[in-house]
Amino acid sequence: MQTKHAVKTYSNYVGGKWLESKGGTIESRNPATGAPVARAPSSTTDDAAHALEEARRTFDSGAWGSKRPSERAKALGEVSDLIRKEIEDLSVLLTLETGKPLADAKGELTNAANVLEYYASAARHIVGRVPRYGGSDVSLVVHEPVGVCALIVPWNSPISLLSWKLGPALAAGCTVLVKPSGYTPGITMEFIKLLSAVEGIPPGVVNAITGPGETVGTEIVRSPLVDKISFTGSTETGKKIMETAASSLKKVNLECGGKSADIIFDDANLDAALPSAVWSIFRSAGQSCNAGSRLLVQDSIYDSFLRKFRQAAEAIHVGNGLQPDTEMGPLISESQLKRVMGYVQSGLDDGARITSGGARILEGELSKGYFVQPTVFEGVERPMRIFQEEIFGPVVCVLPFRDEDDAIAIANDTRYGLAGDVWSRSLTRIMKVSQGVRTGTLWVNRHLNPGPEVPFGGYKQSGLGRETGMEGLMEFLQTKHISLQLTDSFDRVRR
Ligand code: NAD
Repeated sequence: MQTKHAVKTYSNYVGGKWLESKGGTIESRNPATGAPVARAPSSTTDDAAHALEEARRTFDSGAWGSKRPSERAKALGEVSDLIRKEIEDLSVLLTLETGKPLADAKGELTNAANVLEYYASAARHIVGRVPRYGGSDVSLVVHEPVGVCALIVPWNSPISLLSWKLGPALAAGCTVLVKPSGYTPGITMEFIKLLSAVEGIPPGVVNAITGPGETVGTEIVRSPLVDKISFTGSTETGKKIMETAASSLKKVNLECGGKSADIIFDDANLDAALPSAVWSIFRSAGQSCNAGSRLLVQDSIYDSFLRKFRQAAEAIHVGNGLQPDTEMGPLISESQLKRVMGYVQSGLDDGARITSGGARILEGELSKGYFVQPTVFEGVERPMRIFQEEIFGPVVCVLPFRDEDDAIAIANDTRYGLAGDVWSRSLTRIMKVSQGVRTGTLWVNRHLNPGPEVPFGGYKQSGLGRETGMEGLMEFLQTKHISLQLTDSFDRVRR
């Protein structure tokens, strides 16, 4: 499918100005067709240093942090409104850069608008406390913005994941430097344009530069001008960031990889559990941190459930995200395609069986993109790499389990701890499993959060800290204790 998309060239946004870089250019390409989508600076470490100086100067000036909460709320609300107004054009660009179906792109942008709207309201609910001692001791426990925050985001949901950071950072009164993935500079800079159009956000509050993570990303993480890193991406990069940030002991939030278990008991509403299990792994071609990449099915229903699951996987319409009937798009890049196919081979080498899919799609127009069939592995054993490692592709490992204890043991046999799903009608089972599985989120008879009011984040090597909800806001606030001795103060005033 050809699109009439005009390739735009973007600049960095620093101190309220659009700036060229002395570095080269990065180009994003449509993973469904290979066609160029956007060009942006391959920024240098000097660009990063300059952007951080602007963010630091602006934070220290108090231009944003000392505004009234109602003013910050108004500005955030305006950004949310602008996303909703521009959603048609933005979703096409998001699909072009990521390959995700248009409906998912709209869903992502709606999520971003909802999140910013939520944090607009949360900005007005930052409150401290006054513990009661009695006598002349008075303590004020107050919350202050952390400072200059670097927001480093991946490509898979570039705008919603950025809003999860930007919303609370701006609500708290921080200034930010945004560093998007090299795969999604166009959609990120279009989003930054919306922020630049909001008069209530002074220049220097929001800055954004594009470029490679290994150079500009490392420079940002290392810089003493940064107070906090809020990162979403792979566990491997998260570990590097933590190491680099350690030299200046800056605060670090990490939202990293996952290997979530979708646990289906025999008493579940299987008519609802089946499409959810299919959707939770194959949505975004498995390129979702919370993908249900390990499907655990109780042995009493294993055969009948799997028969239907395989049928549903085979019926998924794979294609260009701009086609209205597309349900699953391509992988993001050739290197991701190689990585996923490498995992498929490793599963076969280790003795697991592919019972559906397993190949790259090379028919017609799809041969131009990085399309892989929805792939089902059975006969999987727990030590296998396909069971243990995050594949980030449309590949699911299916295992049977006996009872609650068995399901918990299988689900916990991973270094990850991001999320998971449990399907059952028994409250006893639900409570036992949801308390036994060590993940930051456990969805019961559903998949994904109902709204931005609740927290999301990982146990174990899935991350540090929480995003969304008031928990996500607290990550961008410092706590200060102001301790007063009232008698002394009064005495001095009288003298
Ligand atoms: P990635 O780790 O390769 O890159 C993420 C971001 O970090 C990019 O902007 C990249 O340029 C930057 N980066 C790379 N090296 C860096 C360095 N040394 N210093 C600073 N920045 C650096 O991840 P990706 O491939 O873009 O995204 C996929 C990963 O993200 C998956 O593992 C997925 O599970 C994870 N993810 C997690 C969540 C979550 O909420 N837990 C959500 C979405 C994606």
